[in-house]
Amino acid sequence: MVPSILVHGGAGHHAPSSVPAKRAAARAAADAGWHVLQRGGSALDAVEAAVRLLEDDPLFDAGYGSYLNRDGEVELDAILVDGETLRFGAVAAVHGVKNPITLARRVLDACPHHLLVGDGARRFARACGLTVPGLALVAPDVHARWLADRAGTAASEPDAYDRFRTPDGLPGDVAGAMRGPALPGDTVGAVARDTAGHFAAATSTGGMRDKWPGRVGDSPIIGSGAWADDRGGAVSCTGHGELIMRVCLAHHTGLSMCQGATAEDAAPAAVRYLADRTGGQAGLIVLDATGRPGWARNTHAMPVAWRSSDGAGDDL
Ligand code: ASP
Repeated sequence: MVPSILVHGGAGHHAPSSVPAKRAAARAAADAGWHVLQRGGSALDAVEAAVRLLEDDPLFDAGYGSYLNRDGEVELDAILVDGETLRFGAVAAVHGVKNPITLARRVLDACPHHLLVGDGARRFARACGLTVPGLALVAPDVHARWLADRAGTAASEPDAYDRFRTPDGLPGDVAGAMRGPALPGDTVGAVARDTAGHFAAATSTGGMRDKWPGRVGDSPIIGSGAWADDRGGAVSCTGHGELIMRVCLAHHTGLSMCQGATAEDAAPAAVRYLADRTGGQAGLIVLDATGRPGWARNTHAMPVAWRSSDGAGDDL
């Protein structure tokens, strides 16, 4: 089978000054995954290697450099899906883990459960030797912007996403917090097929900027933020998690590929469906059952890079 890998660095608004570095980082991540595949490694190993690289890069909202929640803490979500067995490992709202995708891998490989959250996920991470102090994940730029947000001096962000509805009957400070704009992230993800013909998908994020503590978006939810099945291919999504979850975007896309849609058709059709049904903004990368790549977004940009025996490339 012809191996291939495709990675993304998040659908949203990317400051023009950050674009060249993000494109280069996406290419480096695709290369890292490609080297695994070329040596005969598994699709799971390839997407984990690619995502780890992006988690370590403060340019992205995943691992080190993640957006902070309203308490000023990094709280992480990640998922890794095995298209051969349909098993997955996922973690959500976990603190103090440098590479949550590797924690998700441990859940997949060594845990009878598929999804661990919060303190339980952290205890599992500690047992695996994967914890770091929470502050070690806070990048200086991200912290400065969080402080500016608190002081009300942050530069205004393009309001690409709809706003949370004002909840009735909540105390004023809580209602105020819930009213804030749900800002997009620089979530990361990868999909791959290996020489044995097995698919894998991975997604990792610090979630939406300024999110409510304990908030979990689509990323670690199977069929929302990621999906893989050797019968249809693999998908990794990014964008406004609340809206992505409403349509189970990754599964929606995967199902259409199981029914014969090509990657090139399935990706834009899925984004159109999300927009029609929820008004949401998102992006996704896919490999179809034949290993062909596709991607689509209805946001300002989404760094993408791919490698296969047919060549390599990138897009925004
Ligand atoms: N989907 C992620 C979330 O809602 C954010 C993103 O992809 O930018 O947590």
